Amino acid sequence: MQKLTIKRLITELVDIPIKRPHQFSAIKVSSKSFVLLRVELSNGVTGIGEGTTPGIFWNGESVETMKLVIDQYAAPFLLEENATHLETLLQKLNRQIRGNAFAKATIEMALLDALGKTYDVPVHQLLGGLHQEKIPVRWALASGTPEGDIEEAKNAVASGQYANFKTKSGKEAPDDDAKRSIRIAEGIKGHSSIGIDPNGSWDRMTTMKWMDDFFAAGIDFLEQPLPPHDIEGLARLAAMKKVPIMADESVASIQDAMRIAKTNAADIFSLKIHKAGGMKNTVKVAGIAEAAGIACFGGTSLESSIGTAACVHTYSSIPNLDYGSELFGPDWLADEIVKEPLVLKDGYIHVPVQAGLGVELDEEKVSLYRRKEQ
Ligand SMILES: [Mg+2]
Repeated sequence: MQKLTIKRLITELVDIPIKRPHQFSAIKVSSKSFVLLRVELSNGVTGIGEGTTPGIFWNGESVETMKLVIDQYAAPFLLEENATHLETLLQKLNRQIRGNAFAKATIEMALLDALGKTYDVPVHQLLGGLHQEKIPVRWALASGTPEGDIEEAKNAVASGQYANFKTKSGKEAPDDDAKRSIRIAEGIKGHSSIGIDPNGSWDRMTTMKWMDDFFAAGIDFLEQPLPPHDIEGLARLAAMKKVPIMADESVASIQDAMRIAKTNAADIFSLKIHKAGGMKNTVKVAGIAEAAGIACFGGTSLESSIGTAACVHTYSSIPNLDYGSELFGPDWLADEIVKEPLVLKDGYIHVPVQAGLGVELDEEKVSLYRRKEQ
């Protein structure tokens, strides 16, 4: 086979409106920004990748930094390289560029899409093969009031759209947050359940104080209650055996996964392909979890159908996704830049079967949402 080389990398920023404002611990957002990457190979195939973050508060990267890192620092190392030597390219990027996991994941996504299209196989086949054809999805309740969240959850369950939920916390004082979450959990008890995600904004004492009440309210899991660096605090919470403790911001790299596994600091890992630096690394993190008896949850950086497809291919290939996923990105955006957005139906997202990521750009929509000042 003739050498398959990387000929061009093109990036652009797009801003896509969302259906309703979303409250994180640190910010409220009303549109979502993405860096769209196209990688052209010498066989004429173009792969697409998407970089996005919950916000710069989450890990220090933004779509603007991703674009800069890809254009100025990664592209010169990738041009004319053999695209089939994926692991070699990723190792090279790691040596040349420290950190910037989200930017690296975007590059890997576009390369895997291009390779999948070249070999005419869906990306999950390049990651080891399929384990499940559809993945349960939790919806994030973030209406702003407990009453609104309870109503939203009950309506979603009644229509069969979603079965279970997550709530974002961290905007209020930790005690008020805890009370609000318990109120929502009690309001939907018997119909559904919630996991709580304060995005690292609580402290040890407050969290410990509420663990009995979280257990009594039937809360499914407590995700990243403490700041990312407080692994010892997470271990103490996990040792209480009240509500399963999920690590998210604390578990990005494979080294993080090993440290948390060794210190028994989590019962569940939230996987995310961008924070891990790509799909291959995410599979490795899931492998460490499997060896340590830790369950996995398919997390999201609130991707569009492009990034969500990458997540679905990855999560569907691992055996220990015991807590399902939160891959509701396509349902949260008011519009998309692909021709056929991924379908969320009856609380499940289905794995694309087409070659590559299985999504195709709608160029008119890309033009519509392209940022004027790049
Ligand atoms: Mg989280």
